[in-house]
Amino acid sequence: MKKDKQLKDIEVCSNCFSPRIVPYMGYETGKRFICQDCNHISVVTIIFENLDELVKALKNKRGD
Ligand SMILES: [Zn+2]
Repeated sequence: MKKDKQLKDIEVCSNCFSPRIVPYMGYETGKRFICQDCNHISVVTIIFENLDELVKALKNKRGD
């Protein structure tokens, strides 16, 4: 497998794994994100190296 120059990390919500996260106001206390899908506000996000990893994680989550 060769490296793709356009490959970029996928940052997702730590609660529902949605990639629809946006920066949340409140930088005084640090960087935060709010998820547009579950409205979860978190200081940490989960980074996936590619879509396959994200899909795998989603399957694990649902399989539980
Ligand atoms: Zn979410």
